[in-house]
Parts: sequence; C-alpha cells; structure tokens
Amino acid sequence: ISLVRPEASDLERAAEAALRPRRLDEFVGQHVVRDQLSLVLDAAVGRGKAPDHVLLSGPPGLGKTTLAMIIAAELGASLRVTSGPAIQHAGDLAAVLSSLEENEVLFLDEIHRLARPAEELLYVAMEDFRVDVIVGKGAGASAIPLSLPPFTVVGATTRAGLLPAPLRDRFGFTAHLDFYSADELEQVLTRSAGLLGVPLEATAAAEIASRSRGTPRIANRLLRRVRDWAQVRGDGRLSLSAAQAALEVYEVDALGLDRLDRAVLTALCTRFGGGPVGLTTLAVAVGEEPETVETVAEPFLVREGLVGRTPRGRIAMPAAWEHLGLTPPSPTGT
Ligand code: ADP
Repeated sequence: ISLVRPEASDLERAAEAALRPRRLDEFVGQHVVRDQLSLVLDAAVGRGKAPDHVLLSGPPGLGKTTLAMIIAAELGASLRVTSGPAIQHAGDLAAVLSSLEENEVLFLDEIHRLARPAEELLYVAMEDFRVDVIVGKGAGASAIPLSLPPFTVVGATTRAGLLPAPLRDRFGFTAHLDFYSADELEQVLTRSAGLLGVPLEATAAAEIASRSRGTPRIANRLLRRVRDWAQVRGDGRLSLSAAQAALEVYEVDALGLDRLDRAVLTALCTRFGGGPVGLTTLAVAVGEEPETVETVAEPFLVREGLVGRTPRGRIAMPAAWEHLGLTPPSPTGT
C-alpha cells in the first residue's frame, strides 16, 4: 500500500480525528477561503440565523471534512454527517432531512455521487426547507409537504465540475481548496507533532513537507511513519536523518513519488526513449492496468510537470529525466 495516495481508509480517518483543527483560526493555510468563510459565519452568528449553504471543493485530504466540522463549531451548532454514496434512496435522505433540528449543519460528503432522485429532493429542501413525503404507492400515492426548520448544508466534492448546475446554484458560498505550500505543510506537521507529543525537528518537518504532495493528510501520514522509525530504529528524535531513513523504507522519494510513480517514469524514459507512448503500452510495461496508471500515478506526475499528455501519447518532460538522474536523448538523434 502506498503512503502517498490522498484517499483515507476508515481506520486512518479514526487516527486523523485527533489531529483535526477544531476552530477556524487553527486551520492552517487557505487564507482566502478562511477569510471569506469567517465573514459568512460571523454574519450568521450575529443575526442568529443559519448561514447560506456552503460547497467545499478540492482534491482529497485538503481539509473539507475538517472545515465542515469547524463550520458547525463556529456556529455553535451540531453536525450531522452523511455522504452521497451512503444515501441509496431518496427516502434515506428524506429521513435525514426530516430529523434535522433548527440550525443544524448537515455535512454531505461526495455530494456529486448522490443519486438523481435524492438530488432533486435536496434542491427543494435547500431552497424551500421542505420535503415532500410520499405516502402510499402507485396511482394512489400522494406527496405530503413537510416543512423543515432552517439548517445549513455543507457539501463536499472532489469534482465540482460534475455537480449539476441546479444543485451548484443552491449553495450561497462556494470555496475551492488548493494544494498547500511546503511552508504551510510544515505548520501542519509542527502542530500535529505537538498534539502527538513527539519532538519534530525543523529540518525533519521541512523534509516531510516536501514529500507530501501539497496534502495535509499525506503529511500527517508520513509523520506517523517517521515517528515509528524514530521509536524503533532511532533515538526517538524526529531528526532529518530519521525522516530520510523512514521515508526510504517506505519508498517515498524526495518529490513524494512512490514505487509505481517511479516505475512509470523509468519505463517512459528508458524503454520508450521519453515517448510519446500510448497509455496501454506504458501500463503493460509497468505491469499495471491502464486505469491504474491513469488515475493513480498520472495526475501527480502531470501536476509536477514530470509527464506530459499529447495527442500521440505520454511523454517524459525534462524534469523527469533530471529526477531519475538520466540524460535525455539529444533532439537531433546524435
Ligand atoms: P478531506 O475531507 O478534504 O479529504 P480532511 O478534512 O479529512 O480532508 O483532512 C485530512 C487530514 O488533514 C485531517 O487529519 C486534518 O486534520 C488534516 N488537515 C487538513 N487540512 C488541514 C489544515 N488546513 N490544517 C491542519 N490540518 C489539516
């Protein structure tokens, strides 16, 4: 299992709970979002009313769940958590909605995966604070409107572009989370180390941050592995050399690439002369499914400017050769 994929297992989510910032002023980075959100929340608190619905978009591991919890905390409201895939039928959503209390916050993770009938029910609930409860079956069925107390939906999605416009339009405030700078990740790590009670040296924090792909979840995960190494094979201190040794064990390199990422780059450079090469051919060369190469390895390689996509296939960018310590073939072929 790779340490640098941004998704979390349920087990990891439990470990993460201890490291979540509880209030907006503990949330590292994302200054624009924080500033805008604090206005929205302070205004709502001042009026004693539920704020507009909030949509959070951005890649996994950047703090959407954390922000949803912070929103509830800042409002002094309780939080209900569910997700698009957890809601199988519109009736499941109707049950959740009709049990909401006044000013509660409903966190809907992966909102782009809601089934269409549930989505339509949600529009109405968000706009008119009403659900239509269907009574009876077939031709005799009728809808009884049930009015809901005011509440706030916080939706989260990794794919804002997949949300149908009518759903997107129901959110009064939309925030997009971006990848974190190395500096911000160092702050996340320093904070986490403090909470875990481990002595993290500044040079080690910088080293872990630079391998964390701009993602707090990955930073915290690498920190836990470095802590293990320091405890078992080191002297307990999370020093630069401990960080480097631990991350070598886990095959996370200086750029945060793992074994699959490096296999793709190496194949691209050494077997296909830097490309262009088709995705399927490349995948066969590394012994993976094309889909795995495309969805697991490629996004970060492209984002880092290591791999390019062209109409004729994948190509190695100059940074890829440099990262592998290889010399690209000269353009004239000599
Ligand atoms: P998402 O819901 O976007 O997948 P999470 O909110 O679950 O991400 O965050 C993943 C982990 O990273 C959590 O442990 C969280 O505490 C930490 N984290 C995320 N963003 C920040 C931040 N801005 N400051 C501090 N820790 C953060």
